[in-house]
Amino acid sequence: MDRKSSNDLQRPKVLITRPIQQSVIDQISQHCDVQVHLEDEPMPPALLASAMRDADGVMPAGVRIGKEIIDAAPRLRVISNIAVGYDNIDLEACNRRHILVTNTSDVLTEATADVAFALILAAARRVVEGDRYVRSGNWKQWQWNCLWGAEMYGKTLGLFGFGRIAQATARRARGFSMRILYHARHRVSTSIENELGANFVDRETLLRESDFLSLHVPLTPETRHAIGASELALMKPSALVINAARGPIIDEAALVQALQANRLAGAGLDVFEHEPKVHPALLAMDNVTLLPHIGSATPETRLRMAQLAAKNLLAALRGERPPNLVNPEALR
Ligand code: NAP
Repeated sequence: MDRKSSNDLQRPKVLITRPIQQSVIDQISQHCDVQVHLEDEPMPPALLASAMRDADGVMPAGVRIGKEIIDAAPRLRVISNIAVGYDNIDLEACNRRHILVTNTSDVLTEATADVAFALILAAARRVVEGDRYVRSGNWKQWQWNCLWGAEMYGKTLGLFGFGRIAQATARRARGFSMRILYHARHRVSTSIENELGANFVDRETLLRESDFLSLHVPLTPETRHAIGASELALMKPSALVINAARGPIIDEAALVQALQANRLAGAGLDVFEHEPKVHPALLAMDNVTLLPHIGSATPETRLRMAQLAAKNLLAALRGERPPNLVNPEALR
């Protein structure tokens, strides 16, 4: 066996589950044997399991990596998720096997805050409804009473979770002269509160006082259905709920009931409880703005996400601590 083929044998094997930018694939290919799933859709579990059989690393996006997939990958050392949220990965199974898990925090913050704020504006000022009205041909003249919406100036934006994306959303809201309240497990520093003009409140106050409630917590067992019937019942009937975090944080059936009963004025949703399925009642409501989970979907952000995921992957495969490690418990 010559030197080259013996080196080739030592090259780690990597699976990338989406057709990401070629420049990033080329970069990883300098160090690894790379297999790319070329369809821009989640790999079916059986195909994923077989593709991971001899993988040392995987870069997943928008696909669940559960225990059964991890068990099917005996050589796996790193899961470099191309997302900030990592609720798609069974962390406990990774910890038991010392598999490092990383995310792409920070680089998608501004793009996702743009979408949260776009949903706030669209839901408030009935942008999509207005667009449909004009296209329908039913708009015949300027009218005093046409499509009155919610004014944003001076209104209260409530942020549930106050990490990177929530704070970037608060920064945008300052430009609209909104009052900003937040609730999270921990209070941020006074300097951040002062810079953003944000006040920490308990969960009930947040729900009662928000004109716009925007969700920015990760999906965890504690946050699943954190906004359900009893939380929605505390909100003002004129309030709007915005979700650009993860669908199951809201109990979607309870949201539908609140909207149908006019106990809530509307919603702006980028994410859904059973994606890509959307509750049929939401599809029929004019006071709900729906987006297909596009929080980080800009070319600049998607490139930065792929590049950061590659950096994390290669560091872990070199035996180094990757910059965006989310499970330090897995380190040996
Ligand atoms: P982050 O910086 O980690 O912020 C998360 C915030 O949630 C922190 O303030 C944290 O507070 C709080 N939190 C966590 N668990 C909580 C709980 N049980 N109760 C109350 N607060 C809790 O995360 P990020 O970068 O802003 O991202 C937030 C989420 O957005 C991600 O996890 C992801 O799911 C979602 N996201 C969606 C899209 C999209 O395409 N729509 C794009 C990017 C991200 P403590 O510090 O006090 O724990």
